[in-house]
Amino acid sequence: MIQQSRKRVYVETYGCQMNISDGELMEGVLEAQGYEISADPEEADVILVNTCAIREHAEKRVLGRVSQLCGLKRDRPDLIIGVTGCMAQRMGKTLLEKAPRVDLVMGPDGYRSLPEQLAALVEGRRIRPSRSAKRRGPQLAVLDLHLGENYEGLEQRRSSRVSAWVPVQRGCDHRCTFCIVPYVRGPEKNRNPGEVLREIEEIADSGVTEVTLLGQTVNSYEAQGQSFPELLRAVARVPGIRRVRFTSPHPNDVTADLLHVMAEESGVCEQLHLPLQAGSDRTLRRMLRRYTVQAFFEKVELARTVIPDIGLSTDVIVAFPGETPDEFEETLDVMRTVRFDDAFTYRFSLREGTPATRFPPADFVSDAEGQDRLQRLIEVHRAIQAEINEAEVGRLETVLVEKEARGPGQILGRTRRNKVVAFAASPELVGTYQEVRLTHTTGATFVGELAAAPALMRPA
Ligand code: SF4
Repeated sequence: MIQQSRKRVYVETYGCQMNISDGELMEGVLEAQGYEISADPEEADVILVNTCAIREHAEKRVLGRVSQLCGLKRDRPDLIIGVTGCMAQRMGKTLLEKAPRVDLVMGPDGYRSLPEQLAALVEGRRIRPSRSAKRRGPQLAVLDLHLGENYEGLEQRRSSRVSAWVPVQRGCDHRCTFCIVPYVRGPEKNRNPGEVLREIEEIADSGVTEVTLLGQTVNSYEAQGQSFPELLRAVARVPGIRRVRFTSPHPNDVTADLLHVMAEESGVCEQLHLPLQAGSDRTLRRMLRRYTVQAFFEKVELARTVIPDIGLSTDVIVAFPGETPDEFEETLDVMRTVRFDDAFTYRFSLREGTPATRFPPADFVSDAEGQDRLQRLIEVHRAIQAEINEAEVGRLETVLVEKEARGPGQILGRTRRNKVVAFAASPELVGTYQEVRLTHTTGATFVGELAAAPALMRPA
């Protein structure tokens, strides 16, 4: 074991649930090696900024934040600053050149070696101190993709006592033309189902009752002869686990088998994220999504037949290169037909290294037009969401309380169908399940009131 005399590390994470989970993994790896986890970059010996590469705008913001954190080195030259995650993998050594005060870049397959790399940086400073005014020692780039790395055997440091992220799969075997993920996270790697179950048993033993299984195309999971529906069923049956969610599934792997497991296992929430991306067949082909609009409709219909009360959410990208005004209208039509409960909407963002860079320049939709399409999509979605939620006012829902809300005396939780509800009650109820009557909707979320005396006990 490497001796670290309680050095403090601060991890700041951006991006998706997988990245949040990776942030917890890095904290777990370092804590196991004697580091103390700090919530304050001002008092940390090591700062790790865990980044996302999906959108150019988000990358720029993170680079600004990294530069701000590097400013802390003025008074604390021993501070180590690392940039990890998808942006670190994508930019690699360029990032070290652009930000010379950054000491370490590390891609998503490097976290197992984090303690050794940090020790190497400290040692490097001792034996090879830099004369540069901007930095004290060598810089390190840890960017190899490892086909077998799925972080088996390492513990995450879980930040929530209510809900746990459990990665069951890393990487992706698809090549959607807009997406950087396969290039920064490598091909699909699935965890051993026995290890996943052991981890979830430990989570349940710690008193956490909700788990979300994570993977880039989580429902394509297959390991040791076990399919995703089989894994999901086994997870739902772990004693103490009351709610199971999973994200993000690929529409092509949403099968009748999967939906039947969701319907049969009371622990699996009636919620499905079904990324549409575009509502025109031509755009879907150019995105290399491998399904048609008709096939997508059939998945939606099957899901609603097997689980009539299912909550559906989606992702949509507008202004993909070559998307015509009529094709954009087709996307709006699909939104009006399916009527998703929730939608994450984006304007196309070109990422260097993705196949979309090979589309001819004339295909690219102008920023103004892209912004206009995004705005129209958001308006259509919000109107539908408000109608759906308005019709749900009055329902009695079981809410898992997650945290205190911003409003004084209010707490916040989620229904099984993943709807957010705020209601007046004590923060002592965080982690408990409460019966809540939905009294009002803001459009996207709900306000409710306790329908019965609060059940104070956290479930065993
Ligand atoms: S399925 Fe497509 S969008 Fe999803 S991670 Fe893989 S390449 Fe990216």
